[in-house]
Amino acid sequence: MSAPTTEAPFLFNVAGLLADAPGTHRTYDIADARVALPDDLELAAPIGGSVRLTRTNRGILADARLTTQLAGECARCLRPLTTPIDIAFEEEYLPSIDLHSGRPVDTGEEPDALRLSDHHELDLEPSISDSISLAEPIAPLDRADCPGLCVTCGLPLDEGEHDHPEDDIDPRLEALRAFRPAED
Ligand SMILES: [Zn+2]
Ligand SMILES: [Zn+2]
Repeated sequence: MSAPTTEAPFLFNVAGLLADAPGTHRTYDIADARVALPDDLELAAPIGGSVRLTRTNRGILADARLTTQLAGECARCLRPLTTPIDIAFEEEYLPSIDLHSGRPVDTGEEPDALRLSDHHELDLEPSISDSISLAEPIAPLDRADCPGLCVTCGLPLDEGEHDHPEDDIDPRLEALRAFRPAED
């Protein structure tokens, strides 16, 4: 099965699955999908993989196996890089409408449970967004031994020569010379 819609690739209508016997599952292929993320996060690739929804005794178990990439920059040399992100989680969603009576479920007994919508929709997007946020690397490196930036010229140390004579500093840093302490 393909994903629901391109606008809401992680919004699944599970009314049909809820009517099936526990253990019944459906697998959705996900390709070229995106989710809303906090402002400081940017995807460098669309989200792809699969989502399996299984009818349980109580609701729907979502099993997400997805991959994407986050855009970022090297913590030492500031060059742009991408970080592969694996998203893998299982979460059970409970109905908010009683399937037999059609009346709202008393959610007060399990206030922390994940819920399907009143229209039997399962919205996986918040959990996927959270997973990506949690997977953000704290100090990514473009290579493990990245030497970082030259303190004299400001360029990456692994590019070009950095045997700088005192007078050969980058014009962009020329202004800083005025602030150097006198040496004599
Ligand atoms: Zn680097
Ligand atoms: Zn340099």
